[in-house]
Amino acid sequence: MKTGFVWHESYAWHDTGTAALFVSADGKTVQPDSHVEDSETKRRFRNLLEMSGVWDQLTKIKPRMATEKDILRVHSPEHLENIKQLSENGGGTTGILTVVAQGSYEIAMLSAGGVMAAADAIMSGEVNNAYALVRPPGHHATRDEAQGFCIFCNSAVVGRHLLEQHNLKKIAYVDWDVHHGNGTEQAFWDDNTALTISVHQDRFYPPDRGLVEQYGEGDGEGYNINIPLPPGSGVEAYIETFKQVIIPALRCYRPEFIIVPSGFDASAFDPLGRMMLHTDGYRELTKMLIDIANELCEGRLLMCHEGGYSRAYTPFCGLAVTETLTGLRSDVEDPFLEVASAMGGQDIQPHQQQVIALAKDVVDKYLNK
Ligand SMILES: [Zn+2]
Repeated sequence: MKTGFVWHESYAWHDTGTAALFVSADGKTVQPDSHVEDSETKRRFRNLLEMSGVWDQLTKIKPRMATEKDILRVHSPEHLENIKQLSENGGGTTGILTVVAQGSYEIAMLSAGGVMAAADAIMSGEVNNAYALVRPPGHHATRDEAQGFCIFCNSAVVGRHLLEQHNLKKIAYVDWDVHHGNGTEQAFWDDNTALTISVHQDRFYPPDRGLVEQYGEGDGEGYNINIPLPPGSGVEAYIETFKQVIIPALRCYRPEFIIVPSGFDASAFDPLGRMMLHTDGYRELTKMLIDIANELCEGRLLMCHEGGYSRAYTPFCGLAVTETLTGLRSDVEDPFLEVASAMGGQDIQPHQQQVIALAKDVVDKYLNK
């Protein structure tokens, strides 16, 4: 099994400035600290890959800059121009909760282009699957604005690239970031060339999106599956979501390529999320995705990095997923696993099963015909 990996030092140079969590420092009450979406979680993920030896087993894929044409398949010219101008003129905050610094435009283009380079390597057969550790993240960015730390919707840009440049007819998304993948959803809302699935914490971000009853419109009706799990959901709730909803939905749809907007903010130690996943949970979910990708689409599976804000734990989650993609196991043990596994509520709760059942109804009604 050959696994591709995308990283570039400039991803760490997108400067989100000083903040407390995601609230910018204001010189009055919010004392400057590092922004929650800074480079450290990603650098530490990459560094742990190196320390574990897994880094040497990965096929490095050189990112390229996305072109304006690539971005305009998903975003409005006004949005592209706004980001470019802000980036050239010293930066600032834009859209919702998003910082653009000097030079962030080029880094965002390299982020989207890095995911595209990984997709190309999978399509050419150079690698079987890939993890694109890119930054800034993308899955909240909408057609017209930056949102939730995301400048361009990398996942939707790569999807359009696969459909238009590689002539694929059907692709699927499984977004396991703790936040709803609203940008990807919007890009394919009335379009059945992509099955967009998002499992996330109920009404977290964006607060009005990600509900079960938001399942697409027009040609896309039934091709958007939201599973808004209640806060506190643990490993078994996620595994049952995959078994009861996500895997059956993929089997009905039969995509030619699976993209996973991958955040590790559903982990037990995340400062923003309120879910309880741990590394063994991520390993099991990844295994299920590999199996279904082998069954349906020659193993074509691409993960693109989104959130994950625990400096301590994101690297171990990333290592677990990358190891599973490669089929290798290093001798690095997750030092937090025992604590996370022992937390109460790792088994599925009735109110979590209720949500899974509602999402399953959408799959049964629209996809399992
Ligand atoms: Zn997130």
